[in-house]
Amino acid sequence: MQGKILIVDAISTNRIVLKVKLASAFYEVLQASTADEACVAALRHAPDLIISAMALPDGDAGDLCRRLDRNAQTRAVPVMVVACRPNPESRLQALEAGVQDVMVKPIDDTLLLARVRSLIRAHNTAAEWQMRDDTSRALGFSEDRADFGPAGRSVIVGADKNIAHNWIMKLRPHLRSSLTFSSPDTALRDLAPGRVPDVFILMLEDGDKLSGEVLRLLAAVRATAITRHAGILVVQPRPEPGLGAYALDLGADDLMTDGFEQNEIILRIKALMRRKRIADQMRATVRTGLKAAVSDPLTGLHNRRYAMPHLARVAEHAAATGRSFAVMVADLDHFKRINDFYGHASGDAVLVEAARRLRENLRGVDLLARIGGEEFLIVMPATPFSEARVAASRLCRKIGGEGFVVPGASEPINVTISIGVTMGGNSKSRNNDNEAIDANQLLDAADKALYEAKLQGRNQVNLVRPAA
Ligand code: GH3
Ligand code: MG
Ligand code: MG
Repeated sequence: MQGKILIVDAISTNRIVLKVKLASAFYEVLQASTADEACVAALRHAPDLIISAMALPDGDAGDLCRRLDRNAQTRAVPVMVVACRPNPESRLQALEAGVQDVMVKPIDDTLLLARVRSLIRAHNTAAEWQMRDDTSRALGFSEDRADFGPAGRSVIVGADKNIAHNWIMKLRPHLRSSLTFSSPDTALRDLAPGRVPDVFILMLEDGDKLSGEVLRLLAAVRATAITRHAGILVVQPRPEPGLGAYALDLGADDLMTDGFEQNEIILRIKALMRRKRIADQMRATVRTGLKAAVSDPLTGLHNRRYAMPHLARVAEHAAATGRSFAVMVADLDHFKRINDFYGHASGDAVLVEAARRLRENLRGVDLLARIGGEEFLIVMPATPFSEARVAASRLCRKIGGEGFVVPGASEPINVTISIGVTMGGNSKSRNNDNEAIDANQLLDAADKALYEAKLQGRNQVNLVRPAA
């Protein structure tokens, strides 16, 4: 069996036509006629792919996607839509909701099957890594994957430099990743390890010779060690099913058949970038085990995955020794504005420098971790309340006292931080130390204190005294 496909369509003849095509290519086919039924079937049968009509009796394909996304067991199943002339709006909405492709009827069988193969291939690879990543999680690490990570690189490759530059001008303002141009013969040349594109956008053009060059590059990208895991989006100037199918079978992850469409291409690049980042992260977790799993690539600090068990250990130790420790959550003030005014790169530079200043002003035994976008956790073992207060004030001054040099501004910019502090393991609580001390409770208490500091005007420390 090639794989399991769930067809969702209220009209039974549609389902049957599609089923015949897929069954003849040796896929196992399941059917559902509503989004409700589809969710139940997806849970029960774990299909490798869902092919849905755009409109369903109880919602549309986007709704179906969102519902699947809410359940961890069905989240990863790719969804593709087959529709009769969808309007551009609903097409974009479906892609935005996470649908991987919208194919318009009448559908070319060769292209359909190539698309199905490509989606199932990607799904199976991801599932394999996921399984291995689950093992790391079972060892006690869990991390929210929605974190920002590095911005990434995209490259447009095509034979016509002028068209490519025109695309770049239109796309750049909407992407976090960098976007550059390369011609097919230079795209894989001089790729230093830090400069490898995460996403290749391959422009096909009319004419066999020009397309041939680009398709050869596609195969080379897949065969080259450092680009093997890059996302590849192929854009055809006009539908040409045979060629599109060929590109998918050569290893393209995604295909646009009707030329440049700004909003759609942006969504697709972002989706590829996101998938690449998650896959990279999973591979890193598996390959380098602990280290990559527990550190934040931007600042080099520990991440939440490391910090929470560490906090629990500090609490345990404190309970045993009767010494108190401080837990702080520090959050940069109005950080969103920094991104908005000076750009994301400047935001990133602020994070790196803030991390450096915090680290420099703590002791070696203190833990500093980045536990959210612009949020840091500090754990100071064996520290009394009075010392915690002094330390927190010093950290606050070290951030707010001196401007930050960033690429997006000619003068150093003003950055401040708010800090919420709570105490754990004080001697008073030693008497009832049999209760397991919950790291989450400590984090919550520090978070509440932080919230107060924000309310009181930011750029300050707020301490909650240990309960008597
Ligand atoms: P407040 O003072 O209340 O904390 O306001 P804020 O703007 O700092 O907080 P908010 O939570 O509204 O915004 C945080 C922003 O941080 C939103 C997000 O875009 C940004 N961010 C999160 N992670 C990163 C990152 O890694 N790099 C950059 N440049 N920005 C990030
Ligand atoms: Mg903030
Ligand atoms: Mg925050």
